[in-house]
Amino acid sequence: DPQLNPNYTFDNYIEGDCNRLARSAGYAVAAKPGGTSFNPLMIYGGVGLGKTHLAQAIGNEIKRSVPDKLVIYVSCEKFCQQFVDSLKNNTINDFVNFYQAMDVIIMDDVHNFAGKEKTQDIFFHIFNHLHQSGKQVILTSDKAPKDLAGLEERLLSRFKWGLSADLQVPDLETRVAILKKKMYADGIELPGEVVEYVAHNIDNNVRELEGAMVSLLAQSTLNKKDIDLALAKQMLKNFIKNTSKEISMEYIQKLVCEYFEVPVDMVKSQTRKREIVQARQISMYLSKSHTKSSLKTIGAFFGGRDHSTVIYACQTVEDLIETDKKFKAYVNDIQKKLKMS
Ligand code: ADP
Ligand code: MG
Repeated sequence: DPQLNPNYTFDNYIEGDCNRLARSAGYAVAAKPGGTSFNPLMIYGGVGLGKTHLAQAIGNEIKRSVPDKLVIYVSCEKFCQQFVDSLKNNTINDFVNFYQAMDVIIMDDVHNFAGKEKTQDIFFHIFNHLHQSGKQVILTSDKAPKDLAGLEERLLSRFKWGLSADLQVPDLETRVAILKKKMYADGIELPGEVVEYVAHNIDNNVRELEGAMVSLLAQSTLNKKDIDLALAKQMLKNFIKNTSKEISMEYIQKLVCEYFEVPVDMVKSQTRKREIVQARQISMYLSKSHTKSSLKTIGAFFGGRDHSTVIYACQTVEDLIETDKKFKAYVNDIQKKLKMS
């Protein structure tokens, strides 16, 4: 199947909270195509988050374990184009027969069906045929089925039959793991602090994350220089939008919560759970030392508290830094990350 890219495998698809459900559903489907209730399996999420990779990994895994299964990967766009061509050439039957003969169809980016009623009709019939014959359908899309505009209701209702699983932006740890895996695959090694720096600053999309690393490598080869942190910062200036931006309380909150693995909104809540209180107090402390916000503003930001709460938090953190080595290391660590940004 020339349509499947052999480089997209489960093996090099790093697992994280961001993709756990989609990945394991994909794995289940690959093990038993057509034989699970995940039919269709719809993988959805924003640009560059790994939809194509995961969908292809399913196809590759099926081909690996059962080579004679007929697996087709096609982008929705290409499918639409083929349909128009077949209309022109009077080969609609061939077109439909080809797809209906498949054991597994992977259609990428089905949001591109929007507005194309005739192609949707044809796909509706192909879908029904395959589904009724126990064949597997895998779809990707930039939105959940319920949010897809411009698709016919009957097709959407089919899309909702199986399982829809979303991909989210990977957290820091997963981003580091993705970079490391990629370095390993390409046989290269960058200093740990450079990897951390890239993972920290490119935090919205895996494709850009990889792009940043590729660009770093290219520049280092061109300049015949090893990459250290200073060089990386300089080289990635164009990639990173907010290099000189002031540190915000929002960012501090995000960093602290990521560090302690607590949900971001919790520090603003009323909870007195120990680890949340700790994250909250450190966030307040860092906001006082790293932003120009007043105590009153800081208190208000972290859940509508008053300025005396902020003073108390800062005092507590300062005391703990003095007396608790581990705590001090935590704060230093977070501070280091703040400065990297
Ligand atoms: P999408 O189709 O959602 O736009 P892609 O599947 O093309 O995204 O992924 C963009 C890039 O990021 C690809 O090179 C892909 O291999 C990589 N990628 C995405 N998610 C992961 C992951 N979890 N582990 C490893 N690489 C990933
Ligand atoms: Mg894609």
